[in-house]
Parts: sequence; structure tokens; C-alpha cells
Amino acid sequence: MYNGLCVYPGSFDPVTLGHVDLIERASVLFPEVVVAVLNNPDKRGKFDVAQRLSMLERACRHLANVRIDSFGGLLVDYMRKQGAGIVLRGLRAVTDFESEFQMAQVNRQIAPEIETLFLMTSPHYAYISSSAVKQIASFGGDFSSLVPAVIIDDIRNAYR
Ligand code: ADP
Repeated sequence: MYNGLCVYPGSFDPVTLGHVDLIERASVLFPEVVVAVLNNPDKRGKFDVAQRLSMLERACRHLANVRIDSFGGLLVDYMRKQGAGIVLRGLRAVTDFESEFQMAQVNRQIAPEIETLFLMTSPHYAYISSSAVKQIASFGGDFSSLVPAVIIDDIRNAYR
């Protein structure tokens, strides 16, 4: 099943330097990485899917083997359609563990041929989350050290 394709799924609402760090490290480990934005009609983000894709495209432009995509429905269905065998997720703190553990077990139950792999955050980025970025931006604070420089204006404009 494994064809060298690794899928990094998430909300990326918006992409942060923590995400980009993970994507850069994955791009060294795997021949091809797809960053896949979950299009979840039940969980509206601050940014719509088209905006999130555009921000990811610009943040990952320097990585030749990284592709940006979106998907709806079950992750394992998307993985099977892509012929991908590896899901990549990131771990920041123990607080991430429980939900990630549950999700990985459920996915294993319904698609045993798909493996979930975890990369530990780089300590430098451990405290960065999309929600922290949004919170700071909503109060007019300086979030510029938390996100790729190429998306700073997108975020500022969203909170104008
Ligand atoms: P989701 O809503 O699916 O958790 P996110 O966009 O918040 O999507 O995160 C996608 C993945 O990236 C998750 O596995 C999350 O734990 C991981 N992640 C988020 N921020 C960081 C960070 N600063 N360092 C490492 N991994 C991270």
C-alpha cells in the first residue's frame, strides 16, 4: 500500500510556523507530502478553505515535493483515493496526545493498512497554535513571529 506518499491533514486555520516546521521535516523524510485541508461544514473556521489553501501554497512554495490539497468526508477514504499509506500528525504537548491517540486508533480500526506517524514539535514552536494566532490577531497584537511572513497580511486583513 505504501507508495511513498504521506498525507498531513489538518485545519490549518491558518497555517503557522509550527505546521511549516513539520512539513519541512516531512519533506526530507518522504518522497512526496500532501498537506490536506479538511473541509468540514460543521466546523467553520475563521478562514474559508480557499484562503487556507492559498496561504499554505505560499508558505510551502520552497518545498518541491509538497503538494497542497483539500478533502471532505473521511480521511481514510481520501487516503485510499490518493493511494497514500501514511498519515502524519504533530504532537506538541501531552494535551495533544489523547485526541491524537483516539483518532489514530479509530482510523486503524476502519483502515488497518494505513499507519499514523507522529513528529514531535520542535521545542521552539511548541507553544504555537492557530488559535493563539487568531486570539492575538483579534486583539490587534503582534503575531508576526508565529506565522510565515507571506501570510501576515492575510491575517491582518481578516481582522480589520
Ligand atoms: P486539527 O484541527 O486537525 O488539529 P491543526 O491545523 O490545528 O488541525 O493541526 C494539524 C496538526 O498539526 C495536528 O496534528 C497538530 O497537533 C499539529 N500541530 C499544530 N501546531 C503544531 C506545532 N506548533 N508543532 C507541531 N505540530 C503542530
